[in-house]
Amino acid sequence: MTRHARHIALAQVGEAGQQRISNSSVLMIGVGGIGCAAASYLASSGVGHIILNDFDTVDESNLGRQVLFGPDDVGKSKAAIAASRLSTLNPEVQVSVLDERLDATALANTVADVDVVLDGSDNFATRFMVNDACVKSDCCLVSGSAIRLEGQIAVFGPDYNISPCYRCLYEDADESLENCAGNGVLAAVPGVIGTMMAVEALKHLAGIPSPRGTLQLYDAGSGSFRSVTIAKRKDCPSC
Ligand SMILES: [Zn+2]
Repeated sequence: MTRHARHIALAQVGEAGQQRISNSSVLMIGVGGIGCAAASYLASSGVGHIILNDFDTVDESNLGRQVLFGPDDVGKSKAAIAASRLSTLNPEVQVSVLDERLDATALANTVADVDVVLDGSDNFATRFMVNDACVKSDCCLVSGSAIRLEGQIAVFGPDYNISPCYRCLYEDADESLENCAGNGVLAAVPGVIGTMMAVEALKHLAGIPSPRGTLQLYDAGSGSFRSVTIAKRKDCPSC
């Protein structure tokens, strides 16, 4: 446990909290800039089982910000390469690869077996499907995105009876999630968001209380954060 000495020294984590982290399972949706950063800290922190879901392969244009990949990985499965790197970072962690596009049933089955889901995917269809699976399983969802010089992060659940879900924040009608391919992104911005997502996931696993229903907006241009309250929608189709 020497690896985790600084966690154990924390009053908010301690041996019991670290044990909970070590006994936990996490699903990471998307192994891009956000996923690479988040998964690195989940692995180094000793999360017992990390499941990586991404059906994409490494493209040379990913290398600037997707820091688990190098030039030799171009054309290979992102999830498989990331799993191999994470196992090198911490051999005590079990890393599983789901390098296929999951349908709603497969996703729901996977979510039912994990303690927290981190969503760093790049489209609303996936995000809604992930949200619905988390609401159904009362699973905590840490959601994040980054574009240009902007990032955002929010934590949802697991008590969706009293707190909002991702669909309370975004409706189907908003279907125009921008992605890095068309818009550009400053490399470290998804790293900031992915790292914050790892913080929130580790807090949840260790049992450190955290407020729900708040969207954190990061503006790298001004170097500042802003918080927006997410209201629980009475007519939400999910929660
Ligand atoms: Zn909702």
